[in-house]
Amino acid sequence: MSPAPTPLWLDGATEPGAAEPPVTAALPRQVDVLVVGAGYTGLSAARETAATGRTTLVLDASGVGRGCSSRNGGQVAYSIKPSYQDLAARHGANLAFRICSEGQQALAHLRRLATDEHLDCDWRPRGGFHGAHTRRHFVAMARDAEAQPRGLEQRIGIVPRSEQRAEIATDFYHGGVIYHDDASIEPRRLFLALHARAIASGAQVIGNCAVNALQRVREGFEVRTARGTVVARQVLLATNGYSGSLSPWHRRRVIPIGSYQIATEPLGVGRVGELIPSGRHISDSRRVVVYYRPSPDGERIVFGGRASLNERDPRVCVPRLQAMLTQIFPSLRGAAITHAWVGWVAYTFDTLPHLGGHDGLYFSMGYCGQGVPLAPYFGMRIGQQMVGLTEGRTALDGLEFPSRPYYHGVPWFLGASVFYYRCLDALGL
Ligand SMILES: Cc1cc2nc3c(=O)[nH]c(=O)nc-3n(C[C@H](O)[C@H](O)[C@H](O)COP(=O)(O)OP(=O)(O)OC[C@H]3O[C@@H](n4cnc5c(N)ncnc54)[C@H](O)[C@@H]3O)c2cc1C
Repeated sequence: MSPAPTPLWLDGATEPGAAEPPVTAALPRQVDVLVVGAGYTGLSAARETAATGRTTLVLDASGVGRGCSSRNGGQVAYSIKPSYQDLAARHGANLAFRICSEGQQALAHLRRLATDEHLDCDWRPRGGFHGAHTRRHFVAMARDAEAQPRGLEQRIGIVPRSEQRAEIATDFYHGGVIYHDDASIEPRRLFLALHARAIASGAQVIGNCAVNALQRVREGFEVRTARGTVVARQVLLATNGYSGSLSPWHRRRVIPIGSYQIATEPLGVGRVGELIPSGRHISDSRRVVVYYRPSPDGERIVFGGRASLNERDPRVCVPRLQAMLTQIFPSLRGAAITHAWVGWVAYTFDTLPHLGGHDGLYFSMGYCGQGVPLAPYFGMRIGQQMVGLTEGRTALDGLEFPSRPYYHGVPWFLGASVFYYRCLDALGL
């Protein structure tokens, strides 16, 4: 049977508020804040602006929450991609430290929402295992774990290959490290919880209403949508990997990349527990990233990665993802795949997220595939900036948001880059 082309998390899902009559009322003619994109970023920002009494309207082109925020793997980790050393070379030690701290605050923010504010997102603070693809990678990972920058230490455990099977039933890795502060969430539940928070603070959220054009006017922006025109004092672009032609400046700065996932058929809690005894989410040190975890009910393995050189129908990518999965767990040869899906993450040329304002337009985007903790956090921060709160300031404010010559939003170089990185992975470099 062909796998369903939808995220496992959307099985049987209805739109939030679907039990209520469909929204047929005309859009408001004027609002203080209009947010384009109803994912983790847009909803988190809307919660902040609405909480200060600003009339806030969130519009999404798709059904509400059908972007990455309902398609991800639910892995929560420290999520600033460049190392402290790289950032220090680029921006100096002080700013590097503050940027890395933002990554830690993002993780702490989601943990606080889940534990102190009881956000219903299936928070599982079990940690994450990062497998070493080669012996050399393991040596480097262990060395880095023991020489973490002062003040930025994470709780990291080193797992030699001889002890690896307590984590994962494979000899594919050469050992690895455990990030004890990592966690997993259920993506759709996090989305629904952030949606409910935004609504509770007074925001209005409407799906199937694309924003087609933005024009500067005296009062702010005239926002042309699929359902009429709204004048907004402030506009936030929270479109991340789905950023289209609405703002060519932003489009030139984010690189949309498809991330593909599959879910196995139910294997049984016992069998999944044998494959991943620690229950942690897993990633590894290859350049072409793979990530996987037990499903929240413990019945399946959910496995993701970059499945093809160019973007394709997720169902076409099943054999490649399945091959990657069975390379790690040979016993899963023959296990059926029931779901296969894709979503567009946004990379940036400096692999940092970016937020702020450009030409009067606010934005927060470019989480480089790590938006589960980053999007709720930077969404909150940009919302605070929009209403002038000092706590909205971040270490990333004012950082140049780089583009490249000849790049206009279609990553023509992607196939060649993925091919090159795959070759390096195959050679263990
Ligand atoms: C398969 C996959 C696995 C992932 N796994 C992880 C993971 O394990 N851990 C992790 O940290 N991150 C992961 N991510 C990334 C993470 O999901 C994203 O970074 C995060 O959800 C981004 O949230 P967002 O709100 O910024 O964007 P999105 O949730 O993508 O929302 C953007 C929205 O903007 C809307 N939009 C675009 N243009 C318009 C327009 N003109 N008008 C109206 N609406 C518009 C889109 O319809 C979309 O709903 C994964 C992503 C994918 C695809």
